[in-house]
Amino acid sequence: MNTAAGSLIAIALIAAALWVGTRWLVRSSSRYRGSRIVVCPETKRPAIVAVDSLHASLSLPDIRLENCSRWPIKAQCGQECLTDLDVAPGRCLVSGVLMRWYRGRNCAYCSKEFPDLHWLDHRPALLSPAGKRMSWNEINVDTLQTVLETYSPVCWDCYIAQNFRLDHPDLVTYRPWLNDNSGGADGWSASRHH
Ligand SMILES: [Zn+2]
Repeated sequence: MNTAAGSLIAIALIAAALWVGTRWLVRSSSRYRGSRIVVCPETKRPAIVAVDSLHASLSLPDIRLENCSRWPIKAQCGQECLTDLDVAPGRCLVSGVLMRWYRGRNCAYCSKEFPDLHWLDHRPALLSPAGKRMSWNEINVDTLQTVLETYSPVCWDCYIAQNFRLDHPDLVTYRPWLNDNSGGADGWSASRHH
């Protein structure tokens, strides 16, 4: 075997090892990715936490938090809530709860039914009982249960369109939204390709 062929085989082996390693890392870190609702052991109240997914996949079973809704004030806590995550990882994913909530419901503006959502892109929003549009970032986790019971879902299209209308009233040419089943959606879709 000459040197050139030898180095080619070596490079191929290294590339294959890198590929397998990367796939394993991505797969095992995705197991922990996403925010989860936990009950904070200190306050007994719900908190949203994010697991350091890369760290968790590299050094099981040493899992640590990347973020918590109670930080930075309680950043030095013992992260005892992680014992819950070990028991049922994924079951209490916030995005899972929210996606189930949207599924089969209808947008408060255009009445379109929500399809199966992909939580990472085009997140839908909410309409409060008082008529205020809100994104999920504005929702305090302590009130999550009340929000799910009393707020109405708003699709991403309508959320963006409504906010755009408020921010740039001079640029908007389509007719004002009618809060009924036919007007709003058609008005928007007819003019969105201007
Ligand atoms: Zn809508």
